[in-house]
Amino acid sequence: MTSSPATSLRRRRQVVIIGSGFGGLFAAQRLKKADVDVTLIAKTTHHLFQPMLYQVATGIIAEGEIAPATRVILRDQKNASVLLGEVFDIDLKNQTVRSQLLERVTETPYDDLIVAAGADQSYFGNDHFAEYAPGMKTIDHALELRGRILGAFEQAELSDDPEEQAKLLTFVVIGAGPTGVEMAGQIAEMSDITLKGTFRNIDSTQSRVILLDAAPAVLAPFGPKLGQKAKRRLEKLGVDVRLGAMVTDLDYDGLSVKYQDGTVERIESQCKVWSAGVQASSLGKVLADQSETELDRAGRVKVGPDLTIPGHSNVFVVGDMMAVDGVPGVAQGAIQGGRYAADAILAEMKKGQTPEQRKPFSYWDKGSMATVSRFSAVMQVPIPFTKKKFETEGYLAWLGWLALHLVYMVGFRNRLNTFINWFFAFSTRGRTQLAVTEQQVYARSALTELSYLERLRVAEAARAEAQGDGEADDKQADNAG
Ligand SMILES: Cc1cc2nc3c(=O)[nH]c(=O)nc-3n(C[C@H](O)[C@H](O)[C@H](O)COP(=O)(O)OP(=O)(O)OC[C@H]3O[C@@H](n4cnc5c(N)ncnc54)[C@H](O)[C@@H]3O)c2cc1C
Repeated sequence: MTSSPATSLRRRRQVVIIGSGFGGLFAAQRLKKADVDVTLIAKTTHHLFQPMLYQVATGIIAEGEIAPATRVILRDQKNASVLLGEVFDIDLKNQTVRSQLLERVTETPYDDLIVAAGADQSYFGNDHFAEYAPGMKTIDHALELRGRILGAFEQAELSDDPEEQAKLLTFVVIGAGPTGVEMAGQIAEMSDITLKGTFRNIDSTQSRVILLDAAPAVLAPFGPKLGQKAKRRLEKLGVDVRLGAMVTDLDYDGLSVKYQDGTVERIESQCKVWSAGVQASSLGKVLADQSETELDRAGRVKVGPDLTIPGHSNVFVVGDMMAVDGVPGVAQGAIQGGRYAADAILAEMKKGQTPEQRKPFSYWDKGSMATVSRFSAVMQVPIPFTKKKFETEGYLAWLGWLALHLVYMVGFRNRLNTFINWFFAFSTRGRTQLAVTEQQVYARSALTELSYLERLRVAEAARAEAQGDGEADDKQADNAG
């Protein structure tokens, strides 16, 4: 086990941040001028702009544009170090965090801890679905999905069996929230515009895109009016939207769906996308096991009004990991939570503010947006000093979405590259990122297989050790006898 570089600088207050997403990165940046050492530990080398993952999955932009290296972003912030590693333990009593990179375990002490490890896909207890229907949380997911979508077209081109072709050209997106709507719209546009005329044996425009949700509405958080408009727009693109449709089984070749009237249907489809639910990082449970902390059903940490956990006023949980009434799991919730935690640390250092004196966290809802297709989005912005919201959809909302997402991207070159890619993708048929490699498609399965073999190896070793101990005990007993 090694100690982190931070231990050599123990004179200053040590702030450890877990996660380089919106919560973690914005907290680190807020502490730029503070007289502290900031150690940001994350299991990925980059800061991922998740709202644009669907554009990587559908070939509009390259992954580097939405995933700049965290250490490059923080290069000029001299009080910050970045450690790559997956945190697997937080010791609240001894105030240390343990992370792992390959075989190396690193222990990092903290005075203040900001946990911003986000959330993963939830398959609602059906984890085996993940093998056949990847979610969309990471760059790996997006690249794998791009490979699966384009791979399905390639296989269909080679087939002369109409049934097999139909299965390959049926794309099913499960979950009609913003990600599902964006994916369904983009797969439809890829088939109808980008790939049109590029195959000789199949007609890409004949592919089917089905969007399923167990709930009775599309984009439920946006309310019935915008949800209905998004649904109509998708249907205009040829997307088959099915609501009140619960996936009950899912395998390599397709899925079973149960509708509200009780009927069950089998849909043959090789390419499925899962965007139906989230489960907060398991680090929430690590905290709950050592304190009075409670978790909600999605594993989110029920934090106090100052975003800390009970009995530990120096441990903040922010972003998708926190459960706070009225704060949705969106980028703004994480950014504002991360900054709030950093401000609380600064206020204690500069003004001697005690935890009891902290003002409760208050969320500023700046509105929500989701794109449906090119030239079409929905937007909802609160009207100041009222409880009402301004709602719009269509071209203006789409332009608003593009502008806002450019503003929040990190790095001028990334913004410029993205802007150029958007210009070509939306004004022509062109998508510049249609390359797919074998590893993108198969690496996850190979890794799953490897970790399964590793688990078997560890279990076998443990069994052998236990057997060895048993035999040694028997011998000792014989000798004693
Ligand atoms: C496909 C998609 C589309 C979205 N679209 C929108 C949108 O349009 N608008 C919007 O506002 N929001 C959107 N969101 C939600 C938004 O991205 C999240 O709310 C936000 O990213 C949450 O920030 P976070 O810092 O809590 O977590 P994340 O951004 O998820 O960051 C978590 C970080 O923790 C790290 N990590 C996780 N576990 C560990 C561990 N054990 N050890 C070390 N590091 C760890 C990860 O590597 C990552 O760096 C979208 C999300 C997705 C997935």
